[in-house]
Formats: sequence, C-alpha cells, structure tokens
Amino acid sequence: MKENSAKKKTTGMGVRVCALAGASAVALAAMVAAASAVTMEDLANDAKTTGDVVSNGLGWHAQRYSPSNQITPENINRLVPAWAFSFGGEKMRGQETQPLVSDGIMYVTGSYSRVFAIDTKTGHRIWEYSARLPEGLLTCCDVINRGAALFGDKVYFMTLDAKVVALDKKTGKVVWSKEIDDPTAGFTATAAPLIVPSKAHGPLIVTGVSGSEFGIVGRVEARKVDNGELVWTRPTIEGNVGTLNGKETTMTGKKNETWPGDMWKTGGGAPWLGGTYDDETKTIFMGVGNPGPWNSYVRPGDNKWGCSRIAIDPETGNIKWGYQTTPHDGWDYDGTNEVISFEMDGKKVAATADRNGFFYVLDREDGKFISAAPFVEKISWAKGIDEKGRPIFDPAFRPGDPAKSADGKKGSAVFVVPSFLGGKNWMPMAYSPDTQLFYIPSNEWGMDLWNEPITYKRGAAYLGAGFTIKPIFDDHIGSLKAMDPKTGKIVWQVNNKAPLWGGVLTTAGGLVFYGTPEGMLKALDAKSGKELWSFNTGSGIVGSPITWEQDGEQYVSVVSGWGGAVPLWGGEVAKSTQGIPQGAMTWTFKLLKDVASK
Ligand code: CA
Ligand code: CA
Repeated sequence: MKENSAKKKTTGMGVRVCALAGASAVALAAMVAAASAVTMEDLANDAKTTGDVVSNGLGWHAQRYSPSNQITPENINRLVPAWAFSFGGEKMRGQETQPLVSDGIMYVTGSYSRVFAIDTKTGHRIWEYSARLPEGLLTCCDVINRGAALFGDKVYFMTLDAKVVALDKKTGKVVWSKEIDDPTAGFTATAAPLIVPSKAHGPLIVTGVSGSEFGIVGRVEARKVDNGELVWTRPTIEGNVGTLNGKETTMTGKKNETWPGDMWKTGGGAPWLGGTYDDETKTIFMGVGNPGPWNSYVRPGDNKWGCSRIAIDPETGNIKWGYQTTPHDGWDYDGTNEVISFEMDGKKVAATADRNGFFYVLDREDGKFISAAPFVEKISWAKGIDEKGRPIFDPAFRPGDPAKSADGKKGSAVFVVPSFLGGKNWMPMAYSPDTQLFYIPSNEWGMDLWNEPITYKRGAAYLGAGFTIKPIFDDHIGSLKAMDPKTGKIVWQVNNKAPLWGGVLTTAGGLVFYGTPEGMLKALDAKSGKELWSFNTGSGIVGSPITWEQDGEQYVSVVSGWGGAVPLWGGEVAKSTQGIPQGAMTWTFKLLKDVASK
C-alpha cells in the first residue's frame, strides 16, 4: 500500500480523513464498509474470542487474559515488529490507552482526546478524530485518555473537557456528543467507557468522571448508546440524590451518617477510572476516588463512599453494596482501582488491588470481605486489615491537624508508605485462570505529607495538603508482583528502576506482557517471572498491551508514549524518569515466519 498519493483533509468536526488513492484505497474502503457491528454477544464473549478485542480489559471481567496460545516461552524469541503507527502532530505526553480491535481495524485513543482508526494488517491510518479542547482545563494528572468502547456502528470515548462522544466507526465523524458537567468547575474525563446490557433500557454506556482534587462530587452515569440520552445518574458521595429517567430517585447512603455538615456537597469521590461489569450477577463495579479535601480533620467520619468499591444495578442506578478500602482517607488513597471478577474455590469472587497497598478479595454477590494482603512492602498507614475488612490504622502515620499547629498553617508532617500515587495507581493488573495468579503492576515508595487549612473555592485545587514523594529502595520503585489470591502471598516479583505506570496482559501461551517507563515492552514466563523477551519502543510505556489473532497469526500491540502523573507529581521520584523521550506510537508485533534456508 502506497501512501504518497494520500490526500488529507480536515472536516468540520476535527476529523482527518486519510483518503488513499488507487487500488489500495478501494481495498481499504471495502474493508471499512464491511466492518460489522459490535453486538452485545461480542462484548459478552470478548474474553473467549481470539479474533478481536472489543472491550477495555479484554472482556467485561477485565482479567486481561487472552486464550491465544501461539506465542509461547519457546518461540517468543521470534516476536518481531509487524508495523508501527505514529499519532503524529506536536501533541505527545502520556499515552495510557488500550487499543481495541474489530474486523481488521484497530481503534486507539491518544493524548489530548484523540481517536485513531488503523488498518491492523498494515498500520495505515483510516481516520483520525481530534476533539477541540478549551484552554485552561483543570487536569490533575496529564492530558491522557485510557481508551474507547465499541458497540454497534459506533466508537465511544470521553474527552478531557468531560464529554462523552460517539463517533461513526466507519468515518470517525461525531454522531452525538454530551457534556457530563462543567470543566471550569474541575470536571474532566479520561476513562474508557463501559457498555452493559439492561432489560429496562437496552444497551447502556456507563461513564465516571474525574475531579476529586477540585471538590466536585463524583457520579456514575448511564446513557442510551444510540443518542446519548441520560438514563440514570448515581452520585458516589453520601447525601447526594441520583436520577432515573429524568426524575430524582434514591439518595446515596444516609445524609450526615459518615459526613459532617455540608462537607458532602464538595466531597470528591470521583469514579475516574471507569468500571467493570459482572454479567453473572448483572452488576457494574466502580471504584470511587478520595474524599475531598485531602485534609481529613475537616471531615470527621468514614466519608462514604470515598475510597470505596461500589456495586451498581444497571437497571436502576441504585447501589447494591459498597466496600470501603480506606475509611476516612487522609492520604489520597483513591479507591478507584479495577474490580476483576474471577472464580476461587468455586465461588464468585472479585479482586482489587488498592492505592493503599492492600490486595482485596471480595464476594462479588454481596460485597462481603473475604481477605486482604499487602502487595507492597513497608506499608505504614495501617498495621493490617481486620477480619471485618476494616484497616487497623496507625495514628502515628496520619499527618497532623493544621488547626493544632503553632501558627495554624501547617500540621505536623509524617513519612508514610505508600505514597499518594499508590502501591498501585490506574494501571490495570491481569489475572490468569491457568496459573491462578494476579499480575500487579506496583510501586514501592513513600511520601512526606502534611495538612494545611483549606476552604472550597470553585475551580481551585481542594487539597489542604502538601507532599513530597520519595523512593524507599535504592535500586527500584516499580515492581511487577505475581499474587496468589488464595494465600495472599507474592509468588514472584520483577523489580524495575522507574515507577511502573502501564497495564499488564497475560495469555494462555503462558506469558505476561507489560511495559516500562524506560521504554521496554517485556514478556515474562507467567509461572516463574523469568524475562523471556523485550523490545525498546523508543519512549516510555504507560499503556496496556493487547493480543489478538488475524489470518491465523497472533499479534501483540502496545502504545508507547511517556507521561502521566509521575513526571508531574513524582517529586524526588521524578528524577528516576528524567531524560525519557516523548513519543506517541502504537507498536504491533507478530512471530517471524520460518526463514526458508539458513
Ligand atoms: Ca475477543
Ligand atoms: Ca485523588
């Protein structure tokens, strides 16, 4: 396919169409026209089907496990690049995304709210959509986007200015666009949307929102996939009332049960990482971010559902159950991490690895606590988790009350582990039903943390805290851990100098794939953690790899492009990543075919 005859044009809504001339254009157009609609069945079966990746997490349960087994520890030394696709332009920074693949087309989101459709055989661009963003957006943690959703003839994603946008899968043109809330108040959106079925409303697109650091109140929303019409909203903070079909419905929790006064009105709790879905219990799982502000002395109480997992009924938007990992958070231990459904001893359970450093197993039918175990070392904010699932706080590691300081301006500082960027941050772990291990991309670090007085001001940072992140080991911060959910033991770990910030993939071929800020895409033996293969992508990897099969061959893809929260907030730790070049590239690999003669 030759691209020198390509004509590029910009259309009204920021769609750049790459119209290829000649026979190749005909072939490409035919492929795009033939691309079939993604059905609810496709989504339900995504984890089992090897020919596509139609959801974030490779299936609703988000195990990030592929049944593809062509690439193995024995042949991975023959894994070579098939093509690379540059996002182009001057906009780079962090690429925290996961590609989707359907009918020979890859859909991948980029920084600054962009979407690209790519021919999976050649790496040629089919179309590009670039959202027009307003100036002065209040993004806490880089201009990233964490992926798209596919359903029917549309590709859905969220923009930094807190919109949900549906694009025509064939052309990249906007079909509908809805604003979740006002970005000047601190609302942003970066997660991959979730598509779920509902009996009452038909297919729904479920989204969260970001902005806990600006005193917004987090909420989950469900819209109709065809036109974006709002079906229900569910605020994540106690005292706020949800909606269903345009009318007020139930209150979240009971007003002032765990929040004092009016603090719940600016209580944070952004479900900024989006959700997963359990088709067996028909439940949406969302993680809820920190209660606001960070200074915990101004909001005595557990502050539900800040730093929690909540289970939502897709039919009503009501909360079925909640489990709070960090009650009365004082460290910004957002509870947004993904909830992964799996089976353990024949029981329907779910696991989640929290920013606070503990890995939890819950009963996914009722949210009952089963177990918790540390997955990082030297945790100090809590001495452990009791049998009811509540942390055993160590008061020595909660920063002091500024109101009790000599000048009333700065409370006593503490050095506490983990840092607020977490034992694990946004980057998703993977679960292999073969090894029955979770592969957790973790970080070992702590922080100096202190509190300051704070009052809410619209559109301004709402922290009441200061901090400096510091390493706790000389040789590494990042550490990929293999966790046995039955025992809570780390079976193996592979350390990395810089903090890990990308997702993990595991396969039936017995492999674990993950990327590093140093730029390496690596493959490990899933049983032993032994490194088997690596490839330098030229920039830091903070995205999540995928694998799929096409024309009888297994492919692996990952997006490379350094950025995210670490270089912005990492303090002393950011030094470990200095000099990492920018980039914005989708790399795709496959096995080199046998060379005819040697
Ligand atoms: Ca699939
Ligand atoms: Ca936060």
